[in-house]
Amino acid sequence: MTVDRLVILGSKGGPSLRTTTRMPTSNLLEIAGKVCVVDCGLGVTSRLVDAGIKLAEIDYIFITHLHSDHILELGPLLHTAWTTNLNKRITIFGPAGTTEYLDHFYQSLQFDIDLRIDDEGRPDLRELVLIREYGEGLVLADTPRVTALKVPHPPVEECYALKMEHGGWKVTFGADTAYFTPLMEFARGSDILIHEAMLASGIEELIRITNSAKSLEKHLFASHTTVEDVGRIAHGAGVELLVLNHLVPVTPKGINEQEWLDEIAKTWKGKTVIARDGLEIRRQ
Ligand SMILES: [Zn+2]
Ligand SMILES: [Zn+2]
Repeated sequence: MTVDRLVILGSKGGPSLRTTTRMPTSNLLEIAGKVCVVDCGLGVTSRLVDAGIKLAEIDYIFITHLHSDHILELGPLLHTAWTTNLNKRITIFGPAGTTEYLDHFYQSLQFDIDLRIDDEGRPDLRELVLIREYGEGLVLADTPRVTALKVPHPPVEECYALKMEHGGWKVTFGADTAYFTPLMEFARGSDILIHEAMLASGIEELIRITNSAKSLEKHLFASHTTVEDVGRIAHGAGVELLVLNHLVPVTPKGINEQEWLDEIAKTWKGKTVIARDGLEIRRQ
């Protein structure tokens, strides 16, 4: 029997990469004896192996939305699991467009996939992978039970927070979202809330080092949540533990944890952990 645990595999927000200390978004949740991956940003495959997971044992993959920092490595993860002896069904839950993404991925690797089926006698990857495009509401009825809440993340139309529970353990992933008070009710009583977080005071520095236009700043504030507001969500939801994740900005120098903790303390007095790649939280 495996131990129920959450592992943050990639803790930075956005697809850019200037160091490998923090990779884009991906998470591992082992719950109810199932290996679940939540989001597949760049680096997910190697981080899963680092977390001690045999790739052929992945049961479910959940994608919150189709931004590249959450889906870029879905195809490569599946293909690598396949060449690492995947021989059972693996189910992908993703928003509308996930099927199209995978169709294009398979097409891009058609030469290799067909060759390995012939040459190495592997089962057809395309038949091992089941895709379930989901919307708001019940995503999976049991082991674990998974429900989705549509969250605002403009201009992306479909983006879903996911609540995963089994045997009294409840873990909620807030996905990428602007400040959204219905998340309080959705995450009510969670053992862990993993919520994206943006340090407002760091955004100016980010704009400067990336030579980005003001339009980036506008996007960030319209579709993400400041640390202070994340605290309001955690407080309203009454969660046991808050994990600040999908950190923005992460500069090449890293982050100043104290700055983030000072900010969250303004609105939230409960337990807080700042995510880092490889952070493991076991069920108590
Ligand atoms: Zn993102
Ligand atoms: Zn996003």
